[in-house]
Amino acid sequence: VHSDVTSFKEVEREVLRLNRNLEDRVRLRTQQLENALVSAEAANSAKAAFLSVMGHEIRTPMNGVIGMTDLLSKTTLDREQRMMVDTVRRSSQSLLATLDHILDYVALESGSVEIIPEEIQLVEFIEGLVDSVGLDVAKNKQRFILHVEPGVPPVVLADAGYLGKVIRNLIDNAIKFSVYTVPQGVIQLRVALAADQANLASGQQRLEIKVIDNGIGISSEQRGQLFEPFVQIESNRARRFGGTGLGLAISARIVALMGGQLALSSGPEEETCFTGTLVFDVPEVAVAIEEARNIEILACIPDPLLHNALAAILEVNAYSVTWFTSTAELSSAVAELTVPGVVLALAADQDTLNYCAEHNLKVLKLSERPRDKATLRLDLVYTDPLLPSALLRALEREQRVLSIGL
Ligand code: ADP
Repeated sequence: VHSDVTSFKEVEREVLRLNRNLEDRVRLRTQQLENALVSAEAANSAKAAFLSVMGHEIRTPMNGVIGMTDLLSKTTLDREQRMMVDTVRRSSQSLLATLDHILDYVALESGSVEIIPEEIQLVEFIEGLVDSVGLDVAKNKQRFILHVEPGVPPVVLADAGYLGKVIRNLIDNAIKFSVYTVPQGVIQLRVALAADQANLASGQQRLEIKVIDNGIGISSEQRGQLFEPFVQIESNRARRFGGTGLGLAISARIVALMGGQLALSSGPEEETCFTGTLVFDVPEVAVAIEEARNIEILACIPDPLLHNALAAILEVNAYSVTWFTSTAELSSAVAELTVPGVVLALAADQDTLNYCAEHNLKVLKLSERPRDKATLRLDLVYTDPLLPSALLRALEREQRVLSIGL
């Protein structure tokens, strides 16, 4: 049987030729892609290196300007000169903040940010952030409530620099957008264990850090794009309040890099509430055994926000507290005292003060934060913001005084 296979052979040869051709082209493309990847990586690392050099080059002279202006403002100046120096200082600080935002954003976009967790004392760390805005809050006549719930671990592993940036951005916005609130802007920073502790490895805890303000608010239509870069609600509003529109975008990206989420919700009475939910590794720390307290606290704090923040601090530190609102209640609480008492009072009236003097009770007054740190006084604890460590130091001082007096 004969059959002519020439055409088959030709087709086969053609297929083989095409195949070889295709393989050559795939090899060439792969090589080109590999080259492109190498040069993209090189460009990326050059960009990251450039950014870090630029960041340094910009920040160093700016820090020089700010530092020297600070020193200059401590010298003897007349009124006009002081005003000019203050303007230079404020402008350079705001320029540095803007530069920091831009550099942070570009670094996050280029993927050159690395989160490096270290052990931090959480409450002290947050107090430091809050304290740094204390004078602004006082100047604006706003209130600042720091509320750390019982159960928050004392030490966590976190990147202090980046966590600090997120919290500062949120606090700065809360201060900025509640400046004109009547009668008073109130900013709250609340730190608590999240209700949901599911799906965690051992030694981990999920925390919620909330920054709440009663400022101009954000309507539901405006919420969608807030975490996108350069978004500001209405240009009018942006012009009035300033800013780059980058703070929230940076914060959301940092929180995502840390494996958490940043969300916006509306609290009761239309407050603006940003919640960062983050999982932290919590190292085991030896829990100090509390010595029995040899004082009791009688507290008269009519303001509910301050009351709650205070109750949390005192509970964590094992103080026993009786709350009272009138001298009549105070006297029945005093009758039950087994150890000396310290009365914590916000704006104590004369009757209460007289009663305390007669009954040998120490009074520790709480007061709004002074404008100027130079006027800090030992027998006052400042409340806006109320720093847990300041209150505890004052109580320990009273405790020492009372035990010496006994
Ligand atoms: P910036 O504050 O620098 O403009 P952000 O990214 O931090 O940039 O915020 C973007 C926009 O979101 C702000 O311009 C403002 O319109 C709105 N916003 C952020 N925080 C608040 C807040 N606490 N209350 C009201 N509006 C806010």
